[in-house]
Amino acid sequence: MNIRIKIQKSIDTAKSDVEKMQCPDATQNLKLNTKNRNGAIKQEHIQYGPLNVDEPGMYWKDIAEFWNTSENAAKKSNCSNCVAFDISPRMDECMPGPVSDPDGRLGYCWMHHFKCHSARACRTWAKGGPIKIDDKSYEWQEKNENKIEERCQKGYKTHSKRKTKKMYGKTYRNCVKAEQLSK
Ligand code: SF4
Repeated sequence: MNIRIKIQKSIDTAKSDVEKMQCPDATQNLKLNTKNRNGAIKQEHIQYGPLNVDEPGMYWKDIAEFWNTSENAAKKSNCSNCVAFDISPRMDECMPGPVSDPDGRLGYCWMHHFKCHSARACRTWAKGGPIKIDDKSYEWQEKNENKIEERCQKGYKTHSKRKTKKMYGKTYRNCVKAEQLSK
């Protein structure tokens, strides 16, 4: 292979590696962050909350019932110690404003993709966090980027037989125009 082409290929790979590891979109885009957070609040299987940490209402009682545990135990399972809560130094740099407040701190949720707060929780909480080091944070980012997109865009559907396709070494959902499928 021509040496110039080889060099260009290496530059392109390095560029794409750097781009891949940029800050998560929701940390840089308030609208997207709000959309994802509101989705996490509303969706039955997530129920991010409580909205007001000082006046949680029935939040902890409800989540305790959902987990079949006591209210006190439920309160101890919050974002601050969730496996998906990223408070690594590189993530702190991605955060546009201050990360701490009197109730705790903000971090990035790798499960639901928004800036969540250590004093809140959700139904998909899992033990093992928080993510404190950059290497772990990059691992989560890589895992997320290799994940197959959950849904096709409006007007497109997953191909009935070939559900995935490979491009540039990655696997993607094989979305085709809906009208093509109905033919
Ligand atoms: S960090 Fe964990 S508990 Fe917090 S919103 Fe994300 S998944 Fe839920």
